[in-house]
Amino acid sequence: MENTIQNNIAKILRRIENVCINANRDPDEVKLLLATKTVSAENIKIAFSNHQTLIGENKIQEIKEKYESLKPIPHQKHFIGHLQTNKVKELIRYEVDCIQSLDRLKLAEKLQNRLEYEDRTIDAYLQFNTSYEESKFGMAPENAVKFALEVQQFDRINIKGLMTIGLFSAEDEKVRKCFKLLKSLQLQLLDKGIPVNELSMGMSGDLEVAIAEGATMVRVGTAIFGKREHPDSYYWNEGK
Ligand SMILES: *Cc1c(COP(=O)(O)O)cnc(C)c1O
Repeated sequence: MENTIQNNIAKILRRIENVCINANRDPDEVKLLLATKTVSAENIKIAFSNHQTLIGENKIQEIKEKYESLKPIPHQKHFIGHLQTNKVKELIRYEVDCIQSLDRLKLAEKLQNRLEYEDRTIDAYLQFNTSYEESKFGMAPENAVKFALEVQQFDRINIKGLMTIGLFSAEDEKVRKCFKLLKSLQLQLLDKGIPVNELSMGMSGDLEVAIAEGATMVRVGTAIFGKREHPDSYYWNEGK
C-alpha cells in the first residue's frame, strides 16, 4: 500500500503540473487536498510522510476515530461533507480548520454561536450547487451575494473561498459549465469585497477541467487511495 499511495500522489502532482503548464498557471497556485473518507489513519500517515499536509473528511464520526492517531503529525483538516447542525459542537472540538460545506444560513448561525461560546474562529468556504442536481447539497448560485453578505455578518466565520462538486458526466463541457459558474460567483463576490480567494473544485476524474477554469484547490480521493466501499451518494445525499 505504501508504494501505491506514494506513486499515486506523484501521478496526481504530475497531472496538476501538466494542466497548469497548459493553462499558463503556476502549479504552486493549486493545492492538493486529500479526500480521506473511509481511508485509515495508517494510510493517511503514509500520505503525510510524502509531504502531504491537507486532508478533507466528510463525517464527524471518522474525524473522531482518526483524531488521536493523526494529532501528533502537523496537518490541516477541512470538512467537506454535509454537516448537520447538531454536529457543530464536535466539528469545533475536533479542531477542524476549515468548513468547505457551508451551504445554509442556519448552519452559519449555529457555528457563530458555538464559536462565540468557545471564543474561537473558523475558516469557511461557501458551497454552491452548480450542477443544479436535486441530490447535491449547496446553496443555489442565484443567492450567492445575499448568502455571502449574510454569512459575513458572523464575525467568528472567516470566509475564504467557494466550493462545489461538479456534475458527474463523461461530457467535459457539461462539467466545465459547473466550474465556470463557480468562477463567475467568485468574481461577483470579490467585487462586493468578500475575500473568496480560494476555489475548491475538481476531483479524481475532473481535476484538469477544474484547474483550467481556475481551481486553487483540488480534492482527490480514489486516484490516491483506491476505490471506496460505498458509492459517493452514501456521503452526499444523507438525509435527503
Ligand atoms: C469524496 C470526495 C471527493 C474526492 O472524490 P474522488 O472522486 O474520490 O477523488 C471530493 N470532494 C468531496 C466533497 C468528496 O466527498
